[in-house]
Amino acid sequence: MTVDLVLSNLSKSYGAALAVDDVSLEVRKGEWLSLLGPSGCGKTTTLRMIAGFIEPSMGLIEIKGRNVTQIPPYRRNTGMVFQNFALFPHMTVDENIAYGLRIRKEQPAVIRRKVEEALSLVRLEGYGGRYPTRELSGGQQQRVALARALVIEPDILLLDEPLSSLDAKLREELCVEMSELQRRLGITTIYVTHDQEEALSMSTRIAVMSQGRLIQIGTPAEIYERPATRFVADFIGKINIVKARLLDAVTAAIVAEGGVTSLTLGSQTEVSVGTEIELGIRPELIEIVRGEEQGLIYGTVRHVAFYGGEIRYRVAINSETTLEVSEHNRRQIPLQEGDRAGLKVDGANCLVLK
Ligand code: ATP
Repeated sequence: MTVDLVLSNLSKSYGAALAVDDVSLEVRKGEWLSLLGPSGCGKTTTLRMIAGFIEPSMGLIEIKGRNVTQIPPYRRNTGMVFQNFALFPHMTVDENIAYGLRIRKEQPAVIRRKVEEALSLVRLEGYGGRYPTRELSGGQQQRVALARALVIEPDILLLDEPLSSLDAKLREELCVEMSELQRRLGITTIYVTHDQEEALSMSTRIAVMSQGRLIQIGTPAEIYERPATRFVADFIGKINIVKARLLDAVTAAIVAEGGVTSLTLGSQTEVSVGTEIELGIRPELIEIVRGEEQGLIYGTVRHVAFYGGEIRYRVAINSETTLEVSEHNRRQIPLQEGDRAGLKVDGANCLVLK
């Protein structure tokens, strides 16, 4: 497996503050790695260090086996798309895309051919003569920025929240387009986002960051299904956090309206018996049972929201815990506010949060 990017103990401090704190990771050829985390967690700083715009305080950056830590941005062969696209307003689309090739002193005929190819990649044939900021929509500008980054055939494509200024529907379309293009070209891509849905749907792997540190790295399914910490569980997707008491190594008890329900967990916990623990339960893994059944958790429906394909309920199971439950809309009769709800939870699907 070829590794295209290695970060070793990468740190960046501003005075006493650590923006990036000892981050090490490897990105394989053709991967789409998303750096995901809340605002201020250090993802942009990490990306900019990879691009060469910010000098690390400590650590090493290797691209295709070459130590580039001290090498200026234009000699790293990375292509970058910025949040606000950063297109040159006084240049046409063609000139914007050709810019990197001109700096590399390519022949005019080669430039013309590569610009045409890049325009066709992002489906903007015929737009080369327009001025980007005045004569193109936001989505088209984003495509020009992508073409400008790709035309130099970079070793690594760096994307800094390139969709954040666009509206929701367009973002979704461009997400699909960008990931199709990325897979077709097989280009190694680092994508900065704070949008967990984008990260989950587009990435080969996700690196979750918090307060400058890398907390977990894994495939979207690994991160979602086996989050390493409470922070990751809570940040990626919706999750209910419920207090429970450990009855033995694999049994947890939850106090709800109808009394105590015990759940058999998927694996042994390391904490001692009798301890209060927190369980994480995803809303889609709670089933609403209509009618009586053994082992249900009972509560009262406090809120019902209709989303077309699914119905989301908020069910209070005790004075301090309200669970969010999502149910596919299969035309079953929805519960109403005030109804008693029986919830079926498979203990094997509960995460014991750390
Ligand atoms: P966002 O999603 O809001 O862009 P981010 O995860 O990309 O956030 P960074 O921009 O990398 O976060 O910033 C990480 C931390 O470093 C923040 O606390 C930020 O305030 C701080 N920081 C960034 N640049 C500087 C700077 N030039 N001087 C001082 N502090 C900085």
